Amino acid sequence: MKRVAWIYHPDYLLHTPPFEHPESPERLVAINDHLGKAGLIERMVPVTPEYPEDADILSVHDREYLNRLETACRRGDLTLDSEDTYINRHSYNIALLSAGGAIAGAKAVAEGTVDRAFCAVRPPGHHAGRSVGMGFCLLNNAAIAARYLQARHGVGKVLIVDWDVHHGNGTQNIFLEDPTVFYFSIHEHPTFLYPGTGRRWEIGKGKGEGTTLNTPMAPGAGDAEYRTTFEQTLEPAVERFRPEVILVSAGFDAHRDDPLADLQVTDEGFRFMTRHVVGLADRFCGGKIVSILEGGYETSSLTSCIEIHVRELLDE
Ligand SMILES: [Zn+2]
Repeated sequence: MKRVAWIYHPDYLLHTPPFEHPESPERLVAINDHLGKAGLIERMVPVTPEYPEDADILSVHDREYLNRLETACRRGDLTLDSEDTYINRHSYNIALLSAGGAIAGAKAVAEGTVDRAFCAVRPPGHHAGRSVGMGFCLLNNAAIAARYLQARHGVGKVLIVDWDVHHGNGTQNIFLEDPTVFYFSIHEHPTFLYPGTGRRWEIGKGKGEGTTLNTPMAPGAGDAEYRTTFEQTLEPAVERFRPEVILVSAGFDAHRDDPLADLQVTDEGFRFMTRHVVGLADRFCGGKIVSILEGGYETSSLTSCIEIHVRELLDE
């Protein structure tokens, strides 16, 4: 069995929507309950997230944006930048603590106190850009973890595997011209789904050309298409790039029961993806994986897929 960090904080529940919204604290309550009842939390290594240092957040986001986010939350605004991205008075702190969760996972893996990490954090992060919040995301947790590994642990090359059903436009933009962070995304085709980016021809720019890889899926695609993409597109790219750590932007909204998209991935599809990424990490980066929760909005499939995901990370 592998040592897997369990990163969670009860304060993550303080970021509550002021109106009916799919990204709610109940998601984490359900995950926590389900993994507890399945006996999995006691087999993981609990790691308490801390508030990150300014420098770690500023490695990704502008100071001006942070100030704007903080002011909007303190003032009692209900949304930031777009109507789907809610905030409350706690949201600035909790967004920092969510990024701190991703950092805590990265730290535990980098220092070798665990083999892998699962960060049950919210708000999610992959739509958040340098100076904009969107798509329920305030700070880009995965991007912050990648920069943290590079700045604090001497990691050179990081791979981000983003299997949330939505394209992680924020992460892509942050690393668009950066050849040291490879961004791979599999998502529903932008013609049909938010945020409308992530076409095949988006491959990075300048020095970063070739280290962005988008694999959009037609509505109705499922396990078979995902398997083919991982084996025939992701794997050769990873063989060329040779990452030192793999981060997973782990959204579970490509599941066929999820209400926010039109794909047909099953529980077994998520088992395959986890197992495949574990195999890549074992081959190229000493098994180092930091999995960071993104979306997933149907409780039953969200919790069952995360149970499978964690069991595969535990390698039991
Ligand atoms: Zn999503």
